[in-house]
Amino acid sequence: MAGKRMTLNVINLDTVTFECTYGRGCDGICCQNGRPPVASEEAARIDKNLKKFLPHLTEKARKAVEQGGYLTKRIKSGKPMLRVVGGWCVFFNRGCVLHKVGMNEGDKFKYKPAPCSLFPLERDDDHGDYYVRQHGYKGEQWDLFCLAPNASSVPAAQSLQEELDFARRRSPNG
Ligand code: SF4
Repeated sequence: MAGKRMTLNVINLDTVTFECTYGRGCDGICCQNGRPPVASEEAARIDKNLKKFLPHLTEKARKAVEQGGYLTKRIKSGKPMLRVVGGWCVFFNRGCVLHKVGMNEGDKFKYKPAPCSLFPLERDDDHGDYYVRQHGYKGEQWDLFCLAPNASSVPAAQSLQEELDFARRRSPNG
């Protein structure tokens, strides 16, 4: 139920470290070819607010979205994936435009697809629990440096408080 806080089980939360260094050495490479899947209710929210986002996109991305939309025919987890232009998500322009517009309205998670809001948390399909993505854990394939176990000394339980809170606010099936 929307707004209800769930108890969250994050399998490896107490044993791993993580730190997002976007703007402090990282250029936002998780948005480079990231192509997150977008749920229908998320797409509806983006559609309704698209005019707000368009002026903030790169010119190339804006033209691509205006001509062909922001979703592709590629499907992941049963959902269409975001479009990429020049190797970057169409919503990336020196940071995530959906994040920036949402933040200006008081909630940075308001418009972003859930995988982006949750990152590096991911739901374990087998059990429904969450885990923190790390190289060498559950067959992690993405070579992002921030997912290396020794990339940071900050406990994930400390650095991911907002993402954990977002996960708690999601419906059990979200
Ligand atoms: S929607 Fe935003 S956070 Fe997600 S991949 Fe695109 S630019 Fe990055």
